[in-house]
Amino acid sequence: MDCPYCGYHDSRVTDSREVNEGIRRRRQCLGCGARFTTYERIQPVSLFVIKKDRRREVFDREKLLNGMRKACEKRPLPADTVDRLADEIESELYRLGRAEIPSAVIGDAVMRRLRGLDHIAYIRFASVYREFADITSLKHEVDTLVAARPVASQLPLIPDQ
Ligand SMILES: [Zn+2]
Repeated sequence: MDCPYCGYHDSRVTDSREVNEGIRRRRQCLGCGARFTTYERIQPVSLFVIKKDRRREVFDREKLLNGMRKACEKRPLPADTVDRLADEIESELYRLGRAEIPSAVIGDAVMRRLRGLDHIAYIRFASVYREFADITSLKHEVDTLVAARPVASQLPLIPDQ
């Protein structure tokens, strides 16, 4: 932080305190001795989603949750599953370190997780997300799942309750 009086590049912090959602620092210029104040604020990173039609919208966790809730509805999954998945996906997206993310990247992240978790939820999500044109493409997706090595941890098709 350059001194606002003389432009010197170095200063000494004489006092720091937290003020609403930021930090206020009192500084003294090491060049001319002038005192000045700086504020540091947390800048929330906004993530934008680029939709298939190129529209750009702010990433919305609620939307992500809703899509997954619908897919997981009435499936015998632990109550916090959808929230946990959303947390994982959200941090995966932020880790990409990009300001704009194609919606396909998010959709794929959801599919990857649901596929390993519950095939019914996966097919439900995929049928909305991939917009299966007809029953043949849906069958193809199901066949792919069935052909894949059976996963012991998969849930039963019909939950017993
Ligand atoms: Zn100065």
